[in-house]
Amino acid sequence: MHRSLSLAVIAGAIGGLIAASDACAWGDEGHRIVGRIALPLLTPEARRQVDALLAADTDTLTAPDFVARTTWADRWRDSDRNTTKLRYTATQQWHFVDIEITNPDLSDACAGRRPLPDGTPASQGPARDCVVDKVEQFAAELADKSLPQAERILALKFLLHFTGDLHQPLHAADNHDQGGNQVQVLYGGHRVASRLHAYWDTAVVQRIGRDETAAAEDLATTFAADRDAWQRGRPADWALESFAAAKATAYALPSATVPDEHGTPAYALDEAYEQRATATAREQLTKAGFRLATLLNAALR
Ligand SMILES: [Zn+2]
Repeated sequence: MHRSLSLAVIAGAIGGLIAASDACAWGDEGHRIVGRIALPLLTPEARRQVDALLAADTDTLTAPDFVARTTWADRWRDSDRNTTKLRYTATQQWHFVDIEITNPDLSDACAGRRPLPDGTPASQGPARDCVVDKVEQFAAELADKSLPQAERILALKFLLHFTGDLHQPLHAADNHDQGGNQVQVLYGGHRVASRLHAYWDTAVVQRIGRDETAAAEDLATTFAADRDAWQRGRPADWALESFAAAKATAYALPSATVPDEHGTPAYALDEAYEQRATATAREQLTKAGFRLATLLNAALR
């Protein structure tokens, strides 16, 4: 455990019992920005097949369109979170890959990177798996037209979401704090601390812009020259990038905490931290959008 984090980790542990797996990655806005960046980059053929799959889907957890479906996997996970927890338990670990800051090992974070058991659809795969493997599995299913349409619809919806999750730095890194869920921070004049993870899910995305359509257009234009380079690689490479971003920015916290209004020790994020976080989130969301388009275009030829 990082020494300077220990106080906040201990203090956060109580709240952490409740919020233990509250790792939802980018909030809805972040996911929709990823979708809005990817959509115009689809080939006509990929777009045709995506539209056909979405049109055949009767699920009502979200609106049926491409951008809304980027948030479906969170809705699915949370749909029985307070009742039977069947969907919750089966899928919640698929949203992240907890690569440890102190001892980074992707294989460890992915339960040994075991392939799916023979004949098991990815949507029914073991609960103990990581977002890297799930992106690979669902991309392969989407490309396989011999599979039942229902499974390919699930594959599409999981892929739309998990490609985003993979790029949230705190979904690819962990400091024995559940990806920043047990670390408290203060920012933007708030007097009550909130979780570092939540800061990266939503607060930093709001700094990018409140109009998600404009934000997506701005990001796609700003980083257009980087697109070809960013579209290379595989999900495992992208996870290691997210991990590096987490180390360099998300976990680059002040050396000491201060008490919030209730006496909870929290790291006060200064403007320099927030600016670095915003710059990182802008890049990560854009990479996710570009790469989602790459995965869909490759799968749906
Ligand atoms: Zn998620």
